[in-house]
Amino acid sequence: MLHIPFDNSYARLPDRFYARLKPTPVAAPGLIAVNAALAEALGIDPAALTTPEGLAVLAGNRVPEGADPIAQAYAGHQFGGWSPQLGDGRAILLGEVIDRDGRRRDIQLKGSGPTPFSRRGDGRAWLGPVIREYLVSEAMHTLGVPTTRALAAVTTGERIQRERAFPGAVLTRVASSHIRVGTFQYFAAREDIAALELLTQHAVARHYPQAGDALDLLDHVTAAQAALLAQWMSLGFIHGVMNTDNAHVGGETIDYGPCAFMDGYHPQRVFSSIDQQGRYAYANQPHAALWNLAQFASALLPLIDEDTNAAIEKATAAIDRFEALYRAEWLARFRAKLGLTTAEEGDRALIEALLTRMAAEEADFTRVFRGLAEGTARDEFVDRDGFDAWAADWHARLAREGQDLDDAQSRIARASPAIIPRNHRIEQAIQAAVAGDLGPFEALHAALATPFDTPPDSPFRAAPAPDEAVRRTFCG
Ligand code: AMP
Ligand code: MG
Ligand code: MG
Repeated sequence: MLHIPFDNSYARLPDRFYARLKPTPVAAPGLIAVNAALAEALGIDPAALTTPEGLAVLAGNRVPEGADPIAQAYAGHQFGGWSPQLGDGRAILLGEVIDRDGRRRDIQLKGSGPTPFSRRGDGRAWLGPVIREYLVSEAMHTLGVPTTRALAAVTTGERIQRERAFPGAVLTRVASSHIRVGTFQYFAAREDIAALELLTQHAVARHYPQAGDALDLLDHVTAAQAALLAQWMSLGFIHGVMNTDNAHVGGETIDYGPCAFMDGYHPQRVFSSIDQQGRYAYANQPHAALWNLAQFASALLPLIDEDTNAAIEKATAAIDRFEALYRAEWLARFRAKLGLTTAEEGDRALIEALLTRMAAEEADFTRVFRGLAEGTARDEFVDRDGFDAWAADWHARLAREGQDLDDAQSRIARASPAIIPRNHRIEQAIQAAVAGDLGPFEALHAALATPFDTPPDSPFRAAPAPDEAVRRTFCG
């Protein structure tokens, strides 16, 4: 028997926070994957999820006892343009559970059919984006990045029309909440102060119980986003769609669409087919995060001070901290990638000198940084003399803090993964899955479970061959 120990709180907020509705049943649920460790952490028997009854729940064919399914309302700025009503157009929150560590977690089905917020969409997801989100979100978690998780993925036995017909799928996603900057914007735009207050209390209770008021919340979200962005940058991760509706108030990475880890490094790298201006290019991400925080601050103004000018002043001061926080987090992450344990004035310049050399040749981001641990970074460059000149400065820097290269290298091996879910590998996994073979998905997933201890001969370490490289990624 499948038992999910639901303890729902969002569904008890007023009706205008969501639409109450059930997932739309599908033809024939089929198992792709169940995350047994996560199920156990949530107090769910993983074996029960793979029974016909479990699959029916994961596919949306059966509403489990204790669930109170809703589609959440939100708004957002998409590529800078305001959309007053977005909301869960293809996702349904089944409910919440308190996990083994006492944390409240959402359980959401993504791709579970149309909702009142679907607009022109079909409410569905196809196998490709479901596999991508499963692999990438779990890899991010393993790499220590705050993120939504994947509890399960199932096929629907139905076809979904995109560029062509693809197999449909549903992802079961777990998150510390699904509260977005856009959720606050939704009520702010309606001048619904009572709802803003309730939402603030709810977000504070879930994410920052130590926070007092709305200004305090803004402070915490600013710090969480600064830390998150530094982590993305330190891994060469490009989210792809940093709209305010995809900015999570708890500081988790959310809504994996046309995201990608870079292979060859370039600060202006963009993958998303819909990001034609490069608004969300790699190096622009911290700016986009700050822009999103400014929208969050605007939404909170009525709660910060009755006097609008005073509110603006306080909110501006709060988000002005982003830059310094981000710079400090970035420096800490990249210092660790060079094996440094102390701070020197010139460290930023040392890191940037390496990045500049990498950008000039589009050297592979993951392989260069991991190569510093394994003595193979030099091999990643065409201009080896240039790398040697940089490495001499780096060795001198390590010597100044009295460090052995060996010790530094073992620390780097814990800061820079040997493997990340490379695009071409994800594409291969998707293509095989569409053809009915889950082997490549399973092999990649297994390799990503230990990204800091990858065997030297792992095929997943390799950069893509020119004909394998993926340059464009698509929304689902
Ligand atoms: P995204 O930027 O992909 O997170 O989605 C932006 C908005 O579009 C959200 O309101 C989604 O729920 C909605 N959306 C995306 N894909 C679909 C779909 N296939 N059907 C209905 N709504 C969708
Ligand atoms: Mg979204
Ligand atoms: Mg190369």
